[in-house]
Amino acid sequence: MNTFENIRIVLVRTYHPGNIGSSIRAMKTMGLEQLVLVEPREFPSAEANKMASSAEDLLDDAVVVGTLLEAVHDCAMVVACTARPRTFDLPALEPEQAANQLFNAAKNGPVALVFGPERMGLHNDDIQLAHYRVSIPANPDYSSLNLASAVQILCYELRKQLNSALAAAPDVAGNPEADNSQLVLPNVGIRENFYEVLEEVLNDSGFVNQQHPGQLMLKVRRLFAKAQPDESEMNILRGALAAVQRKLK
Ligand code: SAH
Repeated sequence: MNTFENIRIVLVRTYHPGNIGSSIRAMKTMGLEQLVLVEPREFPSAEANKMASSAEDLLDDAVVVGTLLEAVHDCAMVVACTARPRTFDLPALEPEQAANQLFNAAKNGPVALVFGPERMGLHNDDIQLAHYRVSIPANPDYSSLNLASAVQILCYELRKQLNSALAAAPDVAGNPEADNSQLVLPNVGIRENFYEVLEEVLNDSGFVNQQHPGQLMLKVRRLFAKAQPDESEMNILRGALAAVQRKLK
C-alpha cells in the first residue's frame, strides 16, 4: 500500500462540511487515506463527522492548509478535476488514464488529485498548479457531479490501478524500489520557483512590457505543462536562466 500513502486527495474551499465527510468515506472505501483541505468554510464539523460514517477516524488526520500551493508544493504530479474545460486549459486525461499516471508517479513520491468548490469549481489560479486536467465524461447538458461523487469515481479508478498491480505482481505492487525506471518530474515547488525566475528574466531583459504583460506567463505555463520537462531538464533551464541573470546584472 506504499503507493496509496503517496496519493493525496485535496479539496479546495469546500462549502458544505457534509461533502468533506462524504468524500472521506468515498476515499476509505477505496483504501485512500490522505485528505488535505484548503480553506474549508467549516471544519472540524459535526456534519462532516456524520456523513463520514465509519470513516470518521480518518477526519482527525485530515490536514488543513491555507493555500493550494501549500497542499501540493512537494508533489511531482498534480491532477485537477474539473467538470468542463476552463480558460486556462491543461492537457486533459480520461479518469482511467489520470489514475494510471498518478499511480505510477506515486511510486516515487507524493502526488495530488485536486477537487474544487461546489459552486464555482476550481479557479484558473488553482488549475495553473496542476500538470493535467481530468473530467469525468458525463451528460453534456448536466456534467457537474456532487463533489463526493466525483471523489468516489476517481478513487475507484485509483483502486483499479492498485488491484491490477497487485494481480500482476503481488510482492512488488506499490513498492517504490521495485520500479525505478520512472522519470522524475520536478515537484510543484521547483516548478513555481522556475516560473518566478523566468518571469524576472523576461521582465529584466525588456522582453515583456511590464505595463502590458498580457497572458504571456499563462501561455508559458501551458507550454511547460505540455512539454513535461523532467527534473534534470528543468535544472538545465534553471541554469541557463541564472547565466542570463548574471549578464543582466
Ligand atoms: N459548478 C462547478 C462544479 C463544481 S462540483 C463547475 O461547473 O465547474 C465540485 C467539484 O467536483 C468540481 O470542482 C470538480 O473538482 C468535481 N467534479 C464535479 N463534476 C465533475 C466532472 N464531471 N469531472 C471531474 N470533476 C468533477
